[in-house]
Amino acid sequence: MSSSGSTDPAAPPSDAVAPARQDFIRQIVREDLAAGKHAAVRTRFPPEPNGYLHIGHAKAICLDFGIASEFGGQCNLRFDDTNPEKEDLEFVRAIEDDVRWLGFDWAELRHASDYFEVYYLAAEKLIRQGDAFVCDLTAEQVREYRGTLVEPGRDSPFRDRGVDENLDLFRRMRAGEFADGTRTLRAKIDMASGNMNLRDPALYRIKQVPHQNTGDAWPIYPMYDFAHALGDSIEGITHSLCTLEFEDHRPLYDWVVDRVDLAGTPKLLAPLTARGLPNVAAKPRQIEFSRLNINYTVMSKRKLTQLVAEGLVDGWDDPRMYTLQGLRRRGYTAASLRLLVDRVGISKQNSVIDFSVLEGALRDDLDARAPRRMAVVDPLKLVLTNLPEGHAETLTFSNHPKDEAQGTREVPFSRQLWIEREDFAEVPPKGWKRLIPGGEVRLRGAGIVRCDEVIKDEGGAIVELRGTLDPESRPGMDGANRKIKGTIHWVSAAHAVEAEVRLFDRLFVVEKPDDESTGKTYRDHLNPESKRSVTGYVEPAAATAAPEQAFQFERLGYFVADRHDHAADRPVFNRSVTLRDTWAVRA
Ligand code: ATP
Ligand code: MG
Repeated sequence: MSSSGSTDPAAPPSDAVAPARQDFIRQIVREDLAAGKHAAVRTRFPPEPNGYLHIGHAKAICLDFGIASEFGGQCNLRFDDTNPEKEDLEFVRAIEDDVRWLGFDWAELRHASDYFEVYYLAAEKLIRQGDAFVCDLTAEQVREYRGTLVEPGRDSPFRDRGVDENLDLFRRMRAGEFADGTRTLRAKIDMASGNMNLRDPALYRIKQVPHQNTGDAWPIYPMYDFAHALGDSIEGITHSLCTLEFEDHRPLYDWVVDRVDLAGTPKLLAPLTARGLPNVAAKPRQIEFSRLNINYTVMSKRKLTQLVAEGLVDGWDDPRMYTLQGLRRRGYTAASLRLLVDRVGISKQNSVIDFSVLEGALRDDLDARAPRRMAVVDPLKLVLTNLPEGHAETLTFSNHPKDEAQGTREVPFSRQLWIEREDFAEVPPKGWKRLIPGGEVRLRGAGIVRCDEVIKDEGGAIVELRGTLDPESRPGMDGANRKIKGTIHWVSAAHAVEAEVRLFDRLFVVEKPDDESTGKTYRDHLNPESKRSVTGYVEPAAATAAPEQAFQFERLGYFVADRHDHAADRPVFNRSVTLRDTWAVRA
């Protein structure tokens, strides 16, 4: 996928030409299919719509959707929307947008809340089987009864309620007769289990809270483990892929799937049959893999939410954020994130990926396909005194040094140029190859200039350079290839378009911003220089870019026209990544 994805941004992440991936999950899927266990693979990506997706989610998305497409199956997008207070339609929309942007499309869009009626009937079934009971303990009492990792728990005094009483109470919970927190429905499993998740876990809680999808219809909501296992069953999910923290939940997942037995109890599915929704052919198998962790980032919806809520960043899509929306606005391409996920691979091994791997994936993607342009972010005027006033010409530049198919463009050139202030030094440090008083440098694609004069203001600050352009060094002339140490970029002052250039850098200055063992929090590790905005100049062929167009600004880095703020007459560019890893040197 990496190769097809990086050459054509519009191409779907197809695997037609890429070698087959060999991770342990794909191996299991291959074996299951070979053994004839399933007619087709079905997966799902199950986000809770309680925040924006972050880069960690990209790993789960690429895995869930990738496996389905590689094996000719299908992947659903399912919103696990069982926590109404924290969920919002805004998040639902953003998640849909993010999944599509990453290059995937779901077979079906589902919500756990589409299945509330089935969950309810399933819970009644468990009650009738003696597998669930209504418990009147408060949350605090439940905690006391649960025991610890080294001590068994104690049975709830309500554990032996009869089926009729349980059914009556559960129906009244549903009818809204009881206040929040006064009762729960609990599975009856084993209070002495070594696995805490099996100590009579809650299946339902009372929450008189409206839901973004079902409104006021339900005063009770199912717990995640119950809803998730049944949601997978309803959709006929064959391989339910999730991160390692759910490993200890797998016995409960299997317990719910087996005890409810949707496949063997078609009448539970009646609420869905009319809508043509259920497909319970498969018994889902949960498989866990390690989360994506990247140093210098925080990757939890809760912390990303706090950064926004506390005004530490400028919103969910602040280009410094590790949300998919933020990364996208920063200029990360979908292909670069898919490439990252490929490079990181899938395993059960917990590890922290170095931030440079993320940046490297973007550089590799953009190096291959971003057109080249010239821009100056810290302008210093250079006047070519041997050109006549009003001199103007256009030079032809190739758009990409390694991709002729990208063609050429016309770059205006004139007597007055902007060059980068840091490309001139009055007193050069050792090894300096750029411009100095009396020295020569090549103006990229235009010829060789000699600096004759340095103009300063009263305060001694350099305001302008004057120089001579060697006529023999112009393109096409005999001296065009004359050896010279340095080449610098430039834009024509008369033609360049003033642009806002946002120079972003990593948001955190330490590798583990959320390590709180030192008594600090990630708030204490924010990089004060993570955002700088300067006024620069870009050549006309950059200004006219569409929003989200990426360029390499020669010698400066990769930049993207801001999704929201860029306009041809008022260009705004975000620096996505520098050309080289400057952090490796700092560290
Ligand atoms: P967070 O902890 O950031 O709030 P979450 O796990 O609660 O994330 P969900 O909406 O529940 O977010 O996640 C949807 C899917 O994405 C789950 O299957 C989850 O395992 C997976 N996922 C979440 N974070 C990562 C990560 N860092 N790496 C890989 N997969 C992840
Ligand atoms: Mg979660």
